[in-house]
Amino acid sequence: MEKAMYPSPYIRITQADHVGSHRDSYAVDEAGSDGGIDYLVAPFTGVIKKIYTSDGNEVWLESTNQVQFADGTVDYMTILFCHDNDVSNLKVGQVIKQGQRFYEEGTKGNAQGNHCHFECARGKFSGTGWHKNSAGYWSINNSKKVSECLFIDDSYHVMDTKGYNFKNTKEISQTTGDTRNYINLSPKADTWAFYRVGDAPVKKNAIGNLKPSKFGGLSYYIYQYCDNNTTAVIQTRDFGKVKIYIKHELAEVTVGSYKYGLVE
Ligand SMILES: [Zn+2]
Repeated sequence: MEKAMYPSPYIRITQADHVGSHRDSYAVDEAGSDGGIDYLVAPFTGVIKKIYTSDGNEVWLESTNQVQFADGTVDYMTILFCHDNDVSNLKVGQVIKQGQRFYEEGTKGNAQGNHCHFECARGKFSGTGWHKNSAGYWSINNSKKVSECLFIDDSYHVMDTKGYNFKNTKEISQTTGDTRNYINLSPKADTWAFYRVGDAPVKKNAIGNLKPSKFGGLSYYIYQYCDNNTTAVIQTRDFGKVKIYIKHELAEVTVGSYKYGLVE
């Protein structure tokens, strides 16, 4: 699984989230190595979902698969890039490989000085891609703080992070060595049906219910993904290995750490 990586080899952030024109948004401005036009690389292998040339040549890139977020979340990620002066090299449906140069800084869309404004979001491209926020700025849907989304590694030239504490990919294996996947069932869920591993995960096949709310949430190792990654095999105390549905807003997959009481 790809780890989502910061899209510029130079990190020189000139405006962080929730200040100035980034009010009510997790946007950041990346100005690259100097005052000229630097390039951006794809943070993950993704597909271009939308290009909006009327304003800042905004481009939405959605990961083609689930990726690992810096905070341990596993999900699709969508990123909005803005200010490239010329996006005639890009088209909707185009697949960009992780690390591939595809976007540039610029000033299109009322930018002061060459930079790239970008915003990360959890999940696939949704709706029109963005909405007008409470401060009157267009902001990506389902946005999430950049340092909770993107990793760096030792190859990055870190000049100014504006206080963001980016996680280095090497920290993950050094701190715990745990790369296991976990499914975390929210305490908001009262019951969670489970199935025999070989059965289709449909209502009539349920053989019992887990009770996340009763235990303040429940976490399990994922032994295996099944049914096109919509279900996972877990080990329960009383029923042995069973299968549960994992594509739900109250279920979250994490890597290397778990959120609630772990059932082994
Ligand atoms: Zn900006």
